[in-house]
Amino acid sequence: MSLLQDLLGKDFVCDQCGKRHVVKLLDVRFGAGALAEVPELCQRHGGKRVGLIHDCRTRDIAGAKVAELLAKAGCDVAELLVPDPAPEHVPVCDDLTHDALAAKLPKADIYVAVGSGVINDLTKWLAGDAQKPYISVATAASMNGYASANVAPTLKGVKSLVRGAEPVAIVSVPSLLAAAPAKMTAAGLGDVLAKPVSSADWQLNRLVFDEYYCPFCAGTIDDIEPIYMDNPGAIGSGSETGIGALFEALILTGISMTMAGTSSPASGGEHLVSHTLDMMSSVDGVPHDFHGRQVGVSTILGAALYEELAALENPVFKVPDSPSDPAFWGFLAPSVESYHEKKRARVAAAIAEFRRRPGLWDEVRATLAPQLRSAARLKDCLRRAGAAHRYTDLGIGRDRYLAALLHAHEIRERFTVLDLARMAGILPARAGELVDRWLAD
Ligand SMILES: [Zn+2]
Ligand SMILES: [Zn+2]
Repeated sequence: MSLLQDLLGKDFVCDQCGKRHVVKLLDVRFGAGALAEVPELCQRHGGKRVGLIHDCRTRDIAGAKVAELLAKAGCDVAELLVPDPAPEHVPVCDDLTHDALAAKLPKADIYVAVGSGVINDLTKWLAGDAQKPYISVATAASMNGYASANVAPTLKGVKSLVRGAEPVAIVSVPSLLAAAPAKMTAAGLGDVLAKPVSSADWQLNRLVFDEYYCPFCAGTIDDIEPIYMDNPGAIGSGSETGIGALFEALILTGISMTMAGTSSPASGGEHLVSHTLDMMSSVDGVPHDFHGRQVGVSTILGAALYEELAALENPVFKVPDSPSDPAFWGFLAPSVESYHEKKRARVAAAIAEFRRRPGLWDEVRATLAPQLRSAARLKDCLRRAGAAHRYTDLGIGRDRYLAALLHAHEIRERFTVLDLARMAGILPARAGELVDRWLAD
């Protein structure tokens, strides 16, 4: 049995971290006839009154079909169409959209989301508010949030984290995922490739601050990773096997975050750069690329920073930071500074730990090395899959990417490779050189 099937509905005390891990996801149905199983899943996990949430694109792809199957099975289906905010604009997950949908949310025993990132996040959030279960019908292997309870909405312009409902079931059809836009699948690959680098950041926090860390949660996709990493062309060409493996890895990544009770197993410094690009867009009102594409590009750089750090024999750590720059952050400045203030204290504490424990640096290098993947291998994988691996792929220039890289550590308290690289003087001094070497072409 695969690890994924084995983990469904499990509630166990982990022999690797001692913590109780609970997986509320009970069913994953992935196959040609999987949509036909939605009515039975709804009735088993909720009831006959079903609230179906989709947008005009995902309704055409699968939503209308699911509604028809539910009605045929005797369910009482109320559809909620998430409107496009403007012509040519797709919906976003923010407080305004949430509030507008909440006012129209049909009463139901169970909700079904048909879509990928935004539709799932909104449904997770609304079902969580209503304290009802929800089922995810995934239309693209584009992100790792399917199995998690975390919602990442923009609240008053600031990228935030809200707890919603985790799905009781995830359903998808291989041909549906293979037919999704290649750009979306490539985004999923970028998000999943981040895991080794994010998990290294997580382990770093254990080593330096003695914080909670679980090797089992960090390693959930180790066995699947070679399927897409050794054969990224299968993702690029839309092979159902390659995309199926990617989809399974994305679900397992979501489960690992839920089990750990933190996003740390799959969200480190590379995610902060992506969030910063999103926030820069909300400050200057220009669009940004998909989450997973920004994450993939930044994962190459995160791995490169770890390689530069690993080469240092005796780094001299310095407190690098002055307060965050209000001119850069615009209306977000006060909220960013509140995080950055905590971050500065954290960096100072890290430096004190390295001074206090002379063997710590070598322990960090030795422990993280086997966990990481090389920047060259990550870049090659993204390139061969037809995914974003240069800043120009994200529709931005060198200066904008550099600005995100140099400000990303300010937005969260979480200690990552970005902070370690700043303490060691690699950032900001060599930022331009590394971006040119790894992300220019
Ligand atoms: Zn554990
Ligand atoms: Zn992500």
